[in-house]
Amino acid sequence: MGHILALDQGTTSSRAVVVDETGAIRATAQRELSQLFPRSGWVEHDALEIWESQRAVAVEALHVAGLDATDIAAIGITNQRETTVVWERATGRPVHNAIVWQDRRTADYCAELAARGLADRIRETTGLVIDPYFSGTKLRWILENVDGVRGAAEAGELAFGTIDSWLIWNLTDGAVHATDCTNASRTMLYDIRDGTWDDDLLGALEIPRSLMPEVRPSSGGFGSSSLFGSDVSIMGVAGDQHAALFGQLCTTPGMVKTTYGTGGFLLMCTGGTPVSSAGGLLTTIAWDLGDGPVYALEGAVFVAGAAVQWLRDGLGIIAAAPDVEELAASVPDSGGVGVVPAFTGLGAPHWDPHARGTIVGISRGATAAHVARATLEGIAFQVADVLDVMRADSGLDVAEMRVDGGAAANDLLLRIQADLAGVDIVRPTQLETTVLGAAFLAGLAAGTWADVGHLAQLRGAGSRYSPGPDAAHLDARRVAWRRAVERSRGWTDPADGYVAEA
Ligand code: ADP
Repeated sequence: MGHILALDQGTTSSRAVVVDETGAIRATAQRELSQLFPRSGWVEHDALEIWESQRAVAVEALHVAGLDATDIAAIGITNQRETTVVWERATGRPVHNAIVWQDRRTADYCAELAARGLADRIRETTGLVIDPYFSGTKLRWILENVDGVRGAAEAGELAFGTIDSWLIWNLTDGAVHATDCTNASRTMLYDIRDGTWDDDLLGALEIPRSLMPEVRPSSGGFGSSSLFGSDVSIMGVAGDQHAALFGQLCTTPGMVKTTYGTGGFLLMCTGGTPVSSAGGLLTTIAWDLGDGPVYALEGAVFVAGAAVQWLRDGLGIIAAAPDVEELAASVPDSGGVGVVPAFTGLGAPHWDPHARGTIVGISRGATAAHVARATLEGIAFQVADVLDVMRADSGLDVAEMRVDGGAAANDLLLRIQADLAGVDIVRPTQLETTVLGAAFLAGLAAGTWADVGHLAQLRGAGSRYSPGPDAAHLDARRVAWRRAVERSRGWTDPADGYVAEA
């Protein structure tokens, strides 16, 4: 009875995981998802494929675990954030493909919103910057560009949702149209302090309120599903990064997690107080366990593990991503080489879309090993820069940073990170923090676990990496990093006289 079925609907795949009362993963099932690129800069998913694949992996995971619905205490959901679906209430049929978070088609409209002077209002209300990334302008695009949709929306015939809402609607056979507050906080339409859809912003983007789902706490009831044989309640919902923060149990102010995937995602729990960032970070709802929202600061590094992919596929100096560790460890330091992996520009705190990847300090003795080591340092320096902004914005001390994601398997990267960020780095025994977070949110509401203290007892010690003697040279290394970043900036900006090849 006490198992949790956690659904992890990601950008590239749908997964389902069965978690038992001890927090151990009993079964996993996964299906890839088709990526649709109808035009340059556009990214879509087939919303029906999302639902079908998610349903299929849920059934498969139960089968692999040898369980049926009566063994499941609750369903938890975590999802790719910001991806936008609009469907007919009467038939459940999507009116358009899902527009994925990566999609940039609303860039011009975002510029228009900025020109209308809405940036401050949006930042104060939603904690976000105006960007095509968030759901609001994607929803508006569907209303403006799909035949008949605006009229149907105004007649109250349509529903909008992020992927969590879409799954909840289908799991409950259309009985529940709801989202959780973490997903709502990524729409650019939600007041993260008052906990309401903001009528002024809905008006500014010409979005009828009747489209919007009901917003509920991340842990609590979202209806029940009879699809798996007998009724199972959906009791936990959170966007993927928020679920990972909870899965890492970063539940007190100043606790930080970093996910080292393709890019790097840092979230810091700031407790019951939303912290506005002076350094260009986002303010977001971390979760709500039913007793009010907990907030987080969020910062992203565009290229993290992708820099290691580039060593493999672009330079060809390693055969597989994990090989970078041995190569980089074959030299004691980077030999004065600096790598700034600004392949797609730089995010916080540098904010330069015109920056490009740069290798500096090459001397006659520089080798592939030095470049590999400098690449790991470049990843770690970018993360350390975001962490510094978080410290400054929040005024909170950071005792340790908890890590996950594919590149967190790299011990050398984590040792370098401890030195450069000046904090202990902790990698948990269980690296599946995102599904675990969704399971924890559901299990707390279902009574599988009593409270966060109970969850903490399930967490093993993991591995800890403390700043080593190398940290002594930190100031000089930081100065060198800042100089390298300076050289990467403005590269594709014609105003600076530098124009990259197309
Ligand atoms: P995503 O969810 O973004 O696809 P993952 O969490 O699966 O990413 O991590 C994959 C990334 O981690 C890839 O960019 C890969 O290059 C990098 N990676 C995987 N293993 C290692 C390793 N041992 N050292 C450094 N980077 C690694």
